[in-house]
Amino acid sequence: GAADGEYDVLVLGAGPGGYSAAFRAADLGLKVVLVERYATLGGVCLNVGCIPSKALLHTAAVLEEAKSLSSHGISFGEPKIDLDAVRAYKDGVVSKLTGGLAGMARARKVTVVTGVGQFVDPHHVSVNDDKGQSQTIKFGSAIIAAGSQSVKLPFLPDDSRVVDSTGALLLSSIPKKMLIVGGGIIGLEMGTVYSALGSRLDVVEMQSGLMQGADRDLVKVWDKMNAKRFDNIMLDTKTVGAEARDDGIWVSFEGKNAPKEAQRYDLVLQAVGRVPNGKKIAADKAGVSVTERGFIEVDKQMRTNVAHIYAIGDIVGQPMLAHKAVHEGHVAAEVIAGQKSFFDARVIPSVAYTDPEVAWVGLTEDEAKSQDIAVERGVFPWAASGRAIANGRDEGFTKLLFDATTHRVLGGAIVGTHAGDLIGEVALAIEMGADAVDIGKTIHPHPTLGESIGMAAEVAEGSCTDLP
Ligand code: FAD
Repeated sequence: GAADGEYDVLVLGAGPGGYSAAFRAADLGLKVVLVERYATLGGVCLNVGCIPSKALLHTAAVLEEAKSLSSHGISFGEPKIDLDAVRAYKDGVVSKLTGGLAGMARARKVTVVTGVGQFVDPHHVSVNDDKGQSQTIKFGSAIIAAGSQSVKLPFLPDDSRVVDSTGALLLSSIPKKMLIVGGGIIGLEMGTVYSALGSRLDVVEMQSGLMQGADRDLVKVWDKMNAKRFDNIMLDTKTVGAEARDDGIWVSFEGKNAPKEAQRYDLVLQAVGRVPNGKKIAADKAGVSVTERGFIEVDKQMRTNVAHIYAIGDIVGQPMLAHKAVHEGHVAAEVIAGQKSFFDARVIPSVAYTDPEVAWVGLTEDEAKSQDIAVERGVFPWAASGRAIANGRDEGFTKLLFDATTHRVLGGAIVGTHAGDLIGEVALAIEMGADAVDIGKTIHPHPTLGESIGMAAEVAEGSCTDLP
């Protein structure tokens, strides 16, 4: 136990990694201090990431589904968009969750200190708040969970019409014409929201396809369903300059699909990736090594090169996802409490919460091909799913990949509505070492989108004879 004014564990950063670590450490009987520069807990994910984006995506999805109901015999009038109220709904969702975290911290007697923390030496962190107050905190062990921030392109002008994801989530106005720089998950999710509210989209992506990392056959379905949102999808192309004028941001491009002339936009969203905050915490004062790019390297117990200092979440590397940070946070706290915990996930799922959703976990088919891994493939098209047809959304499919010899499931990929909610079952199957028979013989409820997972396994086994 720690003496007064001294903590067993200091957690630097209160994102999903940091608060999960702090709560687990407190539950295990340790005296914990959580240092966070923002006024609320929850980090990027709750304040300006996962949660506000999903609140807006839900609004967007309902709006579009309501429009599509005309083909079911129900028609509404033109939607009236009250942007202040849309924003208020999103902000209410965020504050419900950040408020909940504050209550959980209090209930566990976790001390929260607001301000920017930096190491002073291997056992002290100084915290400076925005009122100019400073304090030094002594700790036994530390967990660095300082997260990441979005990459800024140097040639984009400093202008309110050029935003990153945080600025896009503010939803200050609905631009007529929006450019998304970077065709990854974050950019495409924000594009989905703005498009539903009435914006026309362009996207520019340096690589040859949108949503890198996902199998191309999933993205093909996504591309087809989303073509209507875009005026121009510029693949193998990059932005090389931009100028802020009264009538808009004029952007110039270079590459395979670059327009010859500069293009005018009302809003430019830069979503070209995130950089870790490793260089901003004076880690060197504690002897903690930080890579050139700002990452902190850790072992399977989340330990840095300094034995009593741990690091978790976005700051330790890809994939930069909240659910990874949470599990790493638990491991670090448990190791500090003396447990033999390891971060040993076989797989970490990825989800684009677009419309349709795209979700994948474990080995992808593109990886299996490029690495010459012999797999059996089971694909179940949602055009044969009673539930997907009833929902009026049968464009999706569910794909499972099995080891050709052992028939154990190695990967899963789903495109379609609610794909993100479905992929967890495949992650469980992979962690449990399930094979095609295990999944195929598991009775899934009918009619659900989830039964497509059982059917895909039966297709791989060759025992799929009839439709649900
Ligand atoms: P963060 O959440 O980045 O938290 C770090 C915290 O540390 C911050 O609160 C920061 O203020 C604080 N901090 C940093 N330096 C200091 C310092 N020196 N002193 C004090 N405090 C400090 N992931 C998903 O899994 N699902 C999603 O749907 C999803 N959607 C996203 C949407 C958007 C728009 C964005 C930007 C990200 C999204 N992510 C999503 C990624 C997810 O937000 C991150 O992976 C996750 O927040 C990482 O958690 P973390 O604990 O490592 O750090």
